[in-house]
Parts: sequence; C-alpha cells; structure tokens
Amino acid sequence: MSLNFNLGEEHVLIQDAMAKCLEPFRGRQEELKQSILVERKFPQDLWDAICATGLMGAVIPEKYGGNGMGLLSCAIGIEALAERGFGNALLVLTAMDAACILRNGTEEMKQKYLPKMASGEMKFCFGHTEPDAGSNAFRTRTFAKKDGDDYLISGQKTFITGADVADRMLLTCRTTSREACAEQGLPKAFGLALFIVDPKAPGIELRPIPTRGIEGMTQFLVHMDNVRVPASDLVGEPDMGAMALFNSLNPERILAAASACGLSKHCLDIAVKYANERAVFKERPIGAYQAISHPLAQVRIELDSVRLLTHRAAWAFDQDMNPGTVGNYSNMAKYQASELAVKAVDRAIQTLGGYGFSEEYGVIYYYEAARLLRTAPISSEMILNFVAEHDLGLPRSY
Ligand SMILES: Cc1cc2nc3c(=O)[nH]c(=O)nc-3n(C[C@H](O)[C@H](O)[C@H](O)COP(=O)(O)OP(=O)(O)OC[C@H]3O[C@@H](n4cnc5c(N)ncnc54)[C@H](O)[C@@H]3O)c2cc1C
Repeated sequence: MSLNFNLGEEHVLIQDAMAKCLEPFRGRQEELKQSILVERKFPQDLWDAICATGLMGAVIPEKYGGNGMGLLSCAIGIEALAERGFGNALLVLTAMDAACILRNGTEEMKQKYLPKMASGEMKFCFGHTEPDAGSNAFRTRTFAKKDGDDYLISGQKTFITGADVADRMLLTCRTTSREACAEQGLPKAFGLALFIVDPKAPGIELRPIPTRGIEGMTQFLVHMDNVRVPASDLVGEPDMGAMALFNSLNPERILAAASACGLSKHCLDIAVKYANERAVFKERPIGAYQAISHPLAQVRIELDSVRLLTHRAAWAFDQDMNPGTVGNYSNMAKYQASELAVKAVDRAIQTLGGYGFSEEYGVIYYYEAARLLRTAPISSEMILNFVAEHDLGLPRSY
C-alpha cells in the first residue's frame, strides 16, 4: 500500500460534523463557562450534541451500535473540538474504555455496554492511579477476591476524573497479589485484572480532591470496601489484565495527544488573530515583529509534525499492530503533543501581553490544561523511560 497523507472521506466528515454540532454553542461560551465552572454542572446538552455526531461510536463496530470509523477518526474529531476550544475528558475516557472492552471483553459484555457507549447514553471513567501506585501500575493494590459467581473488590484509587457523573468505571486491580506473584516466581505483570464497576455501587465512597487542570470536572479519591461485581463484568481473564490494560492506555495517550494538538491550534489561532489586530507602534500590527511572528511560526511547523505522529499512532492502533509498537508510537505522540501544547499556550500568552492573563481571552486557563498533559495520563519522564528502554534498547534505571 502506498503512503498517503490525505485525510479520508470519513475523517473530513467527522471534522465537519464537529464544527456543525458546536454551532448552537457559539456565542454561548460565557454561559457554558458559568454553568460548568461556577455551578459545577455537567454540560449534558454539549455532550448530547457531540455524541449525536457518532464520535463515541467511532471505535465501535456497527454490529455493536457504532460506526466503525476507527480511533483515527475519533482522534481527528477530538482534535477538531479542542481546536474550537471545546471538549470533555469523559469523551476520551469513554472512547478508550470502549476500545478496551471491544478488544478484550466477552460477546455478552460487548452487547451490554458498547451500544450505550456508542450513543453517549453511558459515560465511562477510568480508575487506575492509586495513592501508592502512580507511574508504577504493577504496584496496584486494589484487590478483587472471588466470591461465588462474583468478585468483592477493596482498595483505593486517586485522582479519578468524573467518577461522580460517569455511569461506569473501568477499574484496574489485582486478582493475585504482588507478594503472591513474587513467592511463586511469577512475572510482575501477572496478577492484574480489569473490571467494569458502577461508581455508585454499595461499598464505594467518592471523596472529591480539589484539583486544577481539567476545567469543570472533579477528581475523586475512590474508596472501595467489598464492592460486589459480577464475574461477567471482568474484562478479559483474571491475572492477565496487563495486556488488556494497554488496549485502553494506548488509545488514551493517542486521544490526549489529539486534544493537545487541538489546544495548540486553538491558542495559535487566538495569538495570530490578536497579532494581526494589535498595533502599539505606529499602525504596524505586532505580528509584523519577528519576535512575535517567529515563535508562532515555529508552533505552526511543530503542530504539523506532532499531528502526523498522532495520526500514525492512531492508524497503528486501527491496524491492530502489536501493542508494543502502538505503545511506542502513542507515547512519542503524547510526549511531543504535550510539550507543544505548553509551548503554544505560553507563546499565545506572550503575544497577548497583559491580555494573556485576562478573563476575557481566557488563554491563561489553557495553561493548566496544557501543563497537565505533561503529567497525566502519563508523565513525560515515564515516556522517555519507555522510549529509551523499548525503542533504543537502553538499560532501565529503576
Ligand atoms: C487533573 C488530573 C486528572 C487525573 N485523572 C485521572 C483519571 O481519571 N484516572 C486515573 O487513573 N488517574 C488520573 N490522574 C492521575 C495521573 O494519571 C497521575 O497523576 C500520573 O500518572 C502521575 O502519577 P503520580 O501522580 O502518582 O506521580 P508519581 O508516579 O508519584 O511520579 C512523580 C514524579 O516522579 C516522576 N517519576 C516517577 N517514576 C519515575 C522514573 N522511574 N523515572 C523518572 N521519573 C519518574 C514522574 O514522572 C513524576 O514527575 C489524574 C491526575 C490529574 C492531576
């Protein structure tokens, strides 16, 4: 197959669909901001409008109520939203969880969840980080104990975004403890498992953690005490969850990269418009000064390269390439995209002078969103570790 850099018909369709579904919200940004940030309301009307385009059905085949356009289409859609200053963390989380269920779930599970995820009727969050197991997933302690046809899950997850509004949480835990694995000489990747859990189930307590970085969405400490989950909600095999986990972490990194590309473009557009209009010396706009135009031109150039990396990662996932290869591409895209987003916001702020900090332009808020992407869903350091070890073949330091 020859190399082709043109977007396909479905990709252009999804870009157009995003622009169109946002039309009713144009000019309502202030009202939306007030409702999301001050009244802390989930923007259900925005969610419904976005889901009505089929964005959440992109990673889901028609057989399960989706449109099967693939993760690349989903990434292009997420980027198109972010480019216009819109988005929602639960879009990324629901799509990544759907990809995981599709690749690892039973037929019954796919029938049960995927159609509702495709339509947007069901929102998913992702429960992975633990207070003592951040970057090191193998230190996961949350434990699922078999109890007849069910499992009883106990443990804690932290920083879980949107656990209050999500209908379900894809949860990582252990079905064999780390200690038991060590005693039996089993590899550290053994013993993990993924479950679908209702965050409102008895035995779950959600404690909000005041956190910045994702506008309008709350992060929670999720405390689980003998939460009863049917074995039919185990995604994949007990103890074998490590591989399944990467079927959700890779799409998450790709969609995070896509949203970072969109955020960079949004900030670039704001900066370019302002640089063309603002004149401080004579009538010459500040965009004529190379001190202003060159940093923006650099962002423009880097954006194209990061977008290509992101598309290649999504394409590799859609081609069902081996998770190690997809992981390498996803990590590189996520690394580069988050670095670029921080740069793009910073340069937009510099271009806007004092207005870079004004509520009216709101660019300063994007700094938190961009900066978060260097830490979550995976930190830049852990990506460099991965690339150094798995791509370059260098020894591990930890
Ligand atoms: C706003 C927000 C939303 C989030 N939403 C979710 C969510 O929905 N679900 C979820 O599961 N998690 C979520 N997280 C958690 C997030 O994924 C983690 O914070 C992130 O993965 C880093 O883990 P940690 O905070 O435990 O950092 P740590 O693992 O403690 O790392 C601290 C620092 O040390 C560095 N470091 C650690 N180990 C190494 C090493 N071997 N080599 C080099 N450097 C290293 C890290 O890169 C980092 O800079 C969210 C976090 C935030 C802030």
